[in-house]
Amino acid sequence: MSIAGNVGLEDLPRICPLISRRVQSAVRVEETRVVTVGKVPFGGPRPVIIAGPCAVESREQTLAVARAVKDAGANMLRGGAFKPRTSPHDFQGMGVEGLRILSEASDETGLPIVTEVMDPRLVETVCAYADMLQIGSRNMQNYPLLVEAGKSGKPVLLKRGMAASLCEWLGAAEYIAKEGNLEIVLCERGIKAFPAGEYSRNVLDLSVIAAVKTETFLPVIVDPSHATGVSSMVESASCAAIAAGRHGLIIEVADDQVGAAKPQCDAVQAIFPGTLKRIVQFVDSRVEQSWLRKAHAV
Ligand code: PEP
Ligand code: MN
Repeated sequence: MSIAGNVGLEDLPRICPLISRRVQSAVRVEETRVVTVGKVPFGGPRPVIIAGPCAVESREQTLAVARAVKDAGANMLRGGAFKPRTSPHDFQGMGVEGLRILSEASDETGLPIVTEVMDPRLVETVCAYADMLQIGSRNMQNYPLLVEAGKSGKPVLLKRGMAASLCEWLGAAEYIAKEGNLEIVLCERGIKAFPAGEYSRNVLDLSVIAAVKTETFLPVIVDPSHATGVSSMVESASCAAIAAGRHGLIIEVADDQVGAAKPQCDAVQAIFPGTLKRIVQFVDSRVEQSWLRKAHAV
């Protein structure tokens, strides 16, 4: 007899039949489901690079970062208009005004937007501006929010809860799938495990990537910014995540032009556009190598 509520991988076919590779293998032949946002495919041969500020803090900052990440080769723009903050006294995001700014940045750069929604009542509003809804770590088990995101039919970026097991994470994805929405991309963003907090914000769990691939056909990306919390660690964590063979990265970037304001949110983990460019070049070189390997194999 097992402890109440304690579930293991053997329970996944029951917990999440709609997204379980084991259950769906007969009907789904594809290795990974391709989830397309705008014209950007997650789960295809090329990893997707999402980049942008932690939070939309002003129009100038967001447009400057959007232009810089586009120049560096990013495929999508991130930025929070509604921010989950530890203290209610801290900046909570610009709200709907922030969504408008993101939309302007997207129109100018052509980059589709992913932005966080925290409140089920705001799903419709966020959907009016965003190309993809982000459900953050703190809300991974906010079931009414998952249901609304599922009903919206919008692609969803579902971050792993900071202390969530794989079963809990995939169970959360199943809530979205149950509403008929299989446009789900999973995101590993680091977990609270010893010694998180000593030299890094969280522990980047690269082992879970292979386990995700075994258990589901949904694409999975990595957030090296929240996983490490230290800007100098973001490039190596990005390369390691890509080497682990997954479908993309979501990275926080700040503007380093003269006179640019220091971000209010997560400044210590933000990389500058030059570093992002190197990460994109690393990704491109990996894609090229795999094409060459395939070409030589035939
Ligand atoms: C974010 O990406 O803006 C964010 C708050 O991340 P997480 O939910 O992973 O903490
Ligand atoms: Mn952040």
